[in-house]
Amino acid sequence: MLTPAVSEDLSQLVQLDAGGQRSREPLFGLDAEALAARMVEAGEPAWRGRQLAEALYRQRVAEIREITTLPKVLRQRLDAEGWRVNRPEIVQVFQSADGTERYLVRCQGGDRLTVETVWMPEGDGGETGDGSDADGVETLRAPSIPLLSEVEGSASFNAEWVGNHEPQKATICVSSQVGCAVNCQFCLTAKLGLQRSLTAGEIAGQVVAVLARHAVEVGRDRVNLVFMGMGEPFLNYDNFMAAVRLLVREVGLSPQRMTVSTSGIVPGIERFAAEPPELRPKLAISLNAPNDTIRGEIMPINRKWPIKAVVDAVRQVQLRPRERITFEYVLLGGVTDRPEHAQEVAHLVRRTGLPAKVNLIAWNPGPGIGYSTPQPEAVEAFRKTLTDGGIPAYLRKPRGRDIYAACGQLKRTVEG
Ligand code: SF4
Repeated sequence: MLTPAVSEDLSQLVQLDAGGQRSREPLFGLDAEALAARMVEAGEPAWRGRQLAEALYRQRVAEIREITTLPKVLRQRLDAEGWRVNRPEIVQVFQSADGTERYLVRCQGGDRLTVETVWMPEGDGGETGDGSDADGVETLRAPSIPLLSEVEGSASFNAEWVGNHEPQKATICVSSQVGCAVNCQFCLTAKLGLQRSLTAGEIAGQVVAVLARHAVEVGRDRVNLVFMGMGEPFLNYDNFMAAVRLLVREVGLSPQRMTVSTSGIVPGIERFAAEPPELRPKLAISLNAPNDTIRGEIMPINRKWPIKAVVDAVRQVQLRPRERITFEYVLLGGVTDRPEHAQEVAHLVRRTGLPAKVNLIAWNPGPGIGYSTPQPEAVEAFRKTLTDGGIPAYLRKPRGRDIYAACGQLKRTVEG
């Protein structure tokens, strides 16, 4: 039963709602300060905002009625007033034979769009050489998660399982937009075009939903984030960086375990260079070609911002001690994987003068895309040419190819 005072508030709010004058924003996505402001507006002390932030981001509570640190009467009132956590929700799970999971995550908006997020136990090798794989945390024993295949979303589907208590090691690949406007010719996501950018809550929500599913303990488990899913983060800059701040300040993740990849959006890189190091992920440039001619063909964005402009912008980023810039390089059979291309890339990377490494990715096939996967010998020869030329080069393992979770393969699965 509600107290009379609460009932009075309620009737006022019901009228407001019925008049369509007021709709509530989701609580998930607001930081502690914004939550405090909302609580003050609601007549509560500001410290209730910190309690809410703890519940949403540290305890990963997804319903107001389950926030037991708030008095029951307040939970009832917030609920009756139309406040909702509205965290993005995993509605479908695809499991690969290699342990990778691809999720369809429903966004917060009324459009009910979905994006894709990927969990890769043990990562994909992309972390190698950047310091985030070398902190001495024990290796993961895979959490004992019941086998699922294509679990349909429903009110009764509980995407949160309690894992075991072994330290986990994994990488989460996060999306920043629904679809993408950049139109890289080798990428399946590009086929969608851009549908819309995600909010900060929708970006951070993918991470928190996956952390909850795998019962990740922040600070003990070794989880890296890569903003390399659907979309170009630097074409959604404000929301992307707001999500990073939430993940660092409220969720407690280290920005040194996060990497953002850009196709080379120069104004975005310049803004990124001005971010405080304690709130900035590491930077990866999606290079993918040895020169402007080939890059312009496979990445039309290169015609606007060619390689030199991108590298000049990257030079403005003040690197942390031992930090490297990563150049991502998708090897397309016969197009970008030749020995002379490797020589050119080694030369190009050396000429930047940046502490850098190259992550090689053998192209993952996608329907309707007319490239071919490079031969394993060509990939190894490419890597060797780079390392012989003094450039650290690593091969990213294809994770979850069988479920279309591998790099460049994300395309929105139609829910249901
Ligand atoms: S590779 Fe990245 S930037 Fe290029 S189209 Fe795909 S999602 Fe967009």
